[in-house]
This record gives sequence, structure tokens and C-alpha cells, in this order.
Amino acid sequence: MLTTNGKFYILKCTKCNTEFDEKKTCTTCLKCGHPLDVIYDYKYIKQRLNLYALKNSPISALKYLLLYPIINLEKIISLNEGGTPLHHCGNLSEEYKIKNLYVKNEGANPTGVFKDRGTLVEITKALEMGAKAVCVASTGNMAASVSAYCSIAKIPCYVLVPEGTPIGKLAQTLSYGARIIQVRGTYSECAKLAVEVSKKHGFYLAGDYVFRLEGQKSQAYEIAEQLGWKAPDYLLCPIGCGTNLAAIWKGFVELKKLELIEKLPKLIGVQPEGCNVITKAFKEKKHTFKPIEKPNTICSAVAAGNPLDGSKVLKALYESKGTVCELTDEEVLEAEQTLAKQEAIFVEPSGALPIAAVAKMSQKGFFKKDDIVVCIATGNGLKDPKSAVKILPDPPTIDPQMSEVDNYLKYKLYQIQAEGMKNKTKVLWERIPTLEKLKKIIHNEFGIKINKVILKKALESIKEFENKGKTLTKQDLQNIIEEQIDEYNIKEKYLEIIDFETKTSKYKEAEASLKIKYGDKILLAQAKGVGTVDAIIKALKKSIKPHDKLHIKLTDYNVEIFTGGVDASVKVTMKARDKKGNKIISHATSPDVIVASVNAFEKCYNFLYHKNHSN
Ligand SMILES: *Cc1c(COP(=O)(O)O)cnc(C)c1O
Ligand SMILES: [Zn+2]
Repeated sequence: MLTTNGKFYILKCTKCNTEFDEKKTCTTCLKCGHPLDVIYDYKYIKQRLNLYALKNSPISALKYLLLYPIINLEKIISLNEGGTPLHHCGNLSEEYKIKNLYVKNEGANPTGVFKDRGTLVEITKALEMGAKAVCVASTGNMAASVSAYCSIAKIPCYVLVPEGTPIGKLAQTLSYGARIIQVRGTYSECAKLAVEVSKKHGFYLAGDYVFRLEGQKSQAYEIAEQLGWKAPDYLLCPIGCGTNLAAIWKGFVELKKLELIEKLPKLIGVQPEGCNVITKAFKEKKHTFKPIEKPNTICSAVAAGNPLDGSKVLKALYESKGTVCELTDEEVLEAEQTLAKQEAIFVEPSGALPIAAVAKMSQKGFFKKDDIVVCIATGNGLKDPKSAVKILPDPPTIDPQMSEVDNYLKYKLYQIQAEGMKNKTKVLWERIPTLEKLKKIIHNEFGIKINKVILKKALESIKEFENKGKTLTKQDLQNIIEEQIDEYNIKEKYLEIIDFETKTSKYKEAEASLKIKYGDKILLAQAKGVGTVDAIIKALKKSIKPHDKLHIKLTDYNVEIFTGGVDASVKVTMKARDKKGNKIISHATSPDVIVASVNAFEKCYNFLYHKNHSN
């Protein structure tokens, strides 16, 4: 046995080789501050391994218990992590010309991320050492994972996350009962603070430290097992703190030591351009890295500017004779969609980094046809739905009528929306186009043909926009087309706002006067309101009051700005309800928030009017 106190492992500093008792430190070296490593007595492990059971039982993280530094098996806190699918990419194999392309779907873990494998060991160790409370800094996923295990262990969990952490991760963490503090700062600042907090208050410090790394090795064990006890040729993994890729490497190295596999994989470390600490150091052939103060990427889970295990992961990359790949946020978001569309695996942006790298590298002919390539899809897409919908169309809302579905299909609204997601900010003309030219532009940009009536209306609308001094983008054109198709399908406008004028100032109530067509009547009205929109709607309601039977009530009002700048188009969404309880959601777009609001209200009214008079 390796140590005299009955343990089959020791903790050692990766830099100065000092040995530590785990009760003294299990985070970083007390002498030089570098990460620690767990060193095992593999002879001892090999003697105790039951190879038959190992090879004939279902895959799971728990069946590799002997390879974790756990002493007290009674303290184990497990949520049945691991055993995740190694998905063969049938469709993408063809596209990238790699026959054996696989995705290890780590989103299938209990809290939706590979970190659960590490948390299994980390929180078990925390209990072994008598922890009364846990503290962890996180970009979100670690928080959710650690707090889930703490809830089972019945110990409080304090979490520090950067402000703006994705909503799915926050919701999870709060639900598991953690005490979250949002920090105005980066992940690295949270990590530093967590060290101080746990020291001062005696909390067990969880995070990207040795015990976690030991648990995360099981990804390598499982991949080897799922490939029939061999390593892939290439393994691609995103790098945040570097703990995970270092863990996977250690897992493969151990399997080779235990003679369960013959050769090791080449590692490919993947980072976004906005946080390329390790990829940059690797490209410069360095063994140390320069931290980035302010990472800037949509891949929030890897936005670690000062990676705790940076030196470990660099070493692993060199040892494996691997390489690195850097990607833009756009490439990542596109890969996220590709993986979902082609292989039905929905990941968060960080989880899409490896497949984005495969797309990029295969274009340059990096992989051979017969290579076995495994991508770690690190986290579930539901954790960060906002970043996904950012590049996805907003589906239309319709009345429960077949005719509306038919319109959706007839006008190919799905295609307008899909095409509209590309080059949104492109300016399509210098001078207002002719009808013929507009038709061509719409066909080029959206791949559709629209009828003359809608086309003419669209052109009118374009002129209105430009009269207000607005330069139209592709996004604006899309909104106009969708709106015109929408309106084309309402037979007549019962209510039409012909014109309005408003007066507004900083301290006084807003005033509005307006002229409307209501059925066959022309009505005029004036009113005051809290703001301009309020005044207009009050005036409108006042003018129709003697005739109105709908009594519509606004239940929600939301303004969304598409691009930066005060001249940007805004999209107003209104929800309204009539006396009978019919509900409607309407949208309107304009560079003028007031005009958009008025149009949205007009639509709400007309929708509900037709609903009341059609059946
Ligand atoms: C934590 C995390 C990473 C980065 O892993 P490191 O061990 O920090 O390198 C990547 N993707 C997801 C989804 C994560 O949660
Ligand atoms: Zn040291």
C-alpha cells in the first residue's frame, strides 16, 4: 500500500511535488498554490478490480468506484450519474465524411451536465471529511450540480455566480435549495471570493479541484467501454477551467495502465475566441498561460479567464500529441443548431464547441475517413434556452382555425422565418425599390413569391418607414412581409386608426387626439394618459365606447428592440382579452414605438372583433 495510514492514494502538488494530507488541503497546494493531483497505488487497485463484473455490468459512474479516492463507502451521495449515450452521428458522419463520428451526450446526466460525475466524488468526500456546509463558485452548471447533491446530503450550499448566469441553471440551483449570491463580476472573481468565504466561515470549498477531477474520469472509462474497450483516435472537449479534459485524459491513461485499452486518444481542446486562454498558449507552444480578465463569449460555461486546471490540460494536450481549435460565437451557435437538427441532440452553446470544431477541421481535411472521433457534448440545451432562441425564429400565433394554418403553409411563413435569421442587419437597397425589384429582392432573400396585393402593401409600408428617416434592414423587411400577410388575411379592418397626434413632456401628463374609422363611422377623440401610448388607447376607448361591445382589456404589453440604437425597429407585443374571455396576442413593428403600439392595439381589436362576429 502506498501510504501508512491505510490509504491507496496520496495528494501531491503538480508543481512542487509536496505531499498533503487531504484534511489539510484538497484544493490547491499550500506552498505554491498550484493544483493538486491524486496519485494511486494502481497495483492495489488492479488486485481489487473485478474485471468480469466491470465488463459485464451496465455502464455507470458508480461501477468505477475503486478508481475514485473514496474511503468510506457508506457516505456515498449518488444520483445515478453517468451511463450516458455514446451517440453515433448517422447524418453528420456523412456530411463531415467521418464514418465513426460520435457524441457522448453528457446532457443526459441527472442535472444535465457531466459535472455530476465529479460532484458524486466531491460531495461524498465532503461528507467523509465532516463538512457542515459547502461553498462553490460557478458559471451555473457546477452550482446546479453541487446544490443537487447537497440537497440529498442535507447540507447547505452557498453559491457564487456571475450576474447574468443563464436562467435554466439559476432555476435549477434555486430549486435544489441552494443559497445563491449573484456577483457583479466574472467567474474568476467569484472563484477567488469563494476561496475567501469558505476559509473564513469554515465551509467545504467545492469546485474544479482534485476530487471533482477524479469523478469526471468516468467519461473516459465509459467511452472506451462503449467503443468495445478502446480509445477513439480523437477526443474533442471544450475547455473552461480545463478540469474536464484533464480528467478525461487521466481516465484514458489509467485504462492503459490497467491494460484495459492499448492506445491513447489524441485530444483536441476547444475554446471560443472570446476566451481562448488555453488554445492560445498551446498554439504558442507554451506550458503556461496568460489569464484573460474579461472573457467575452456566449459560451458562458467555459468563460473562465483564469482556468484552475490550465496547466494540467496543457500538459494533457502535449502528452496526447493533440491540438486545439478556436471558434467564433456564430460558429458555435450554428453548430448547436446543426447538432439538434441532424442528430436530435440539444446542447447549450459550450456543449456545441466540439461539434463546431469538427465542422471546421473536417473542412480542412483534418480527419481521415476511418478515424474514430468522439465529441463531448457537455451540457443540456435546456439550461440556456435564451441563447438558442436568439438565432431561432419566433413562431407565429394564430387563431384555432384551419384557414390560419393553411395560410402559414401557403405563404411559407416557416421559410420566411428561417431565411430571415440569416444576415438580419443587411441593408437591402439604397433607394426605395420598384415593385418589380422588391419582388426580386424578396425572392432572393427569403426564397418565396408573394402576391401583388401583399407586395403593394409592403411597398407602402416601406415608404412609410423611410419617410420617417429609417434605413431598412433585412430584418425590417421580414417584419413588414409577415405583417402584410397577417393583415391580408383579415377581411376588413373594422377599427382603423386614421391618424393621431400627441403631446408629451417630462413632467406633465401625455395628451393624445385621434381620428378613427369604426365600422362606417368616423370618430374623433381626445384623452390624457400616464404616457403617450396610454393616452392614445384611452382616447380610442373613449371614442368607441358608445358603440363597443367587446370591452377589450389589455393584459400585457411588451416592447422588444431588435438592434442597438434609438432608431432601431421595435416589435410591440400586446395581449388582450374581450368580455367573453377570448384572448389575443398581436405584434406590430415600426421604428417608432408609438406607431408600433397603436398598430398592435388596432390588430388586437380587429382580431377580437372578427372572432366575435364570425362564429
Ligand atoms: C463546466 C463546463 C464546461 C467546462 O469544463 P471545465 O472542466 O471547466 O473545463 C464545458 N461545458 C459545460 C456545459 C460545462 O458546464
Ligand atoms: Zn506546490
